[in-house]
Amino acid sequence: MSRKLATVIGTVVAAALVVGGLATVALNHTRPPRPAVASQSTPAAPPTTAASSTPTTTPTRTPSGKPEQPVADPTASLAAGNKKVLFLSFDDGPDPVWTPRILQILRKHGAHATFFQLGRMQAEHPGLREQILADGHTIGSHSISHAQLTALPAAKRRHEIFDGPRSKCFRPPYGASNPKVRADIAAAGMSQVLWDVDPRDWKRPGVTAIVDNILHHAHRRNIILLHDGGGDRTQTAAALDKVLPLLKAQGYTFPAMTC
Ligand SMILES: [Zn+2]
Repeated sequence: MSRKLATVIGTVVAAALVVGGLATVALNHTRPPRPAVASQSTPAAPPTTAASSTPTTTPTRTPSGKPEQPVADPTASLAAGNKKVLFLSFDDGPDPVWTPRILQILRKHGAHATFFQLGRMQAEHPGLREQILADGHTIGSHSISHAQLTALPAAKRRHEIFDGPRSKCFRPPYGASNPKVRADIAAAGMSQVLWDVDPRDWKRPGVTAIVDNILHHAHRRNIILLHDGGGDRTQTAAALDKVLPLLKAQGYTFPAMTC
């Protein structure tokens, strides 16, 4: 390859990276950070933005096929052709009580999901990872300890990202990300996966509120955020059992993301 050609290609790639980076930053800046995970016994603080009254359906992913995407979109091949699919995701597990309960409900309705797990919880509850995979679901990383990665020094941030659960998908705790976090996720060979619909099940707003939120906001190809860890998930389990047949009646299917 001539030096001139190499320079031209290098410039094009650099420009694409800049454009892609800016687009990603713009997209992620529209997403308010989620309040603390509901693992504490004290009630979580209400969201600090007006997001609770607005639909939380801002797309988080670059549309598939864009060359600037550093790692493949884990939903792209499953949603190709604008299929009526929804991607269920469960964060903060595995939990010895709630993960098996969620698995049982998913099995009952023939749905699949992606579990974004904490390394700390995996270490405390071995065996659940294998159970999830055996049922045809996939596993993403949600870091080791649910730290806010944007507030950590580089070495700790990288430890949380590189040494967490094995996966090709990474969801930063609280959805808190920035260019450094994204660069580390990509360097670790993973895609950042946020969400489109947050029915705030972690806040335990009531089964009906969770169901209604999902039914109101979920559109084809959306990623729905739920939790199988971080506290009592009775409402999440009941809401899932209620909403899955309603969404299935609308024609939706539920594949696990490619993680
Ligand atoms: Zn979380």
